[in-house]
Amino acid sequence: MGIEECPEGEQCPIHHRYDSETVEVSTEWARIVTYVGDYVVVTDTNPFVLRGVFGQLLAREYTDRYDITVHEIGEGTLSSACNTGLELMRFHESHDDFSNIIDAHELVVEAVKQGWLVNQ
Ligand SMILES: [Zn+2]
Repeated sequence: MGIEECPEGEQCPIHHRYDSETVEVSTEWARIVTYVGDYVVVTDTNPFVLRGVFGQLLAREYTDRYDITVHEIGEGTLSSACNTGLELMRFHESHDDFSNIIDAHELVVEAVKQGWLVNQ
């Protein structure tokens, strides 16, 4: 989907460097996107909302419900970086603990801020 027809407008974490946190308790669905410098941390729920954005994730088999990934996007956005066709994923972990969804995401965000997950 192009940026012009995106229904989320400027509050879209895919087309803009906009931090977004959506957690639906009733369905245990979550999508959390946090931009940190040259990286973006994404928590997503299987099946992936971001499937169309992360072509590289399609090739893998996931069994856990939640995935946390870190992508190197430079000064761009998820959308612009994915259009480069480069391998962007720098970190991946998954879990099944909905009650821990925000803490698990924040832990990875903090690790990126500290430089622990990148430059490996
Ligand atoms: Zn958008």
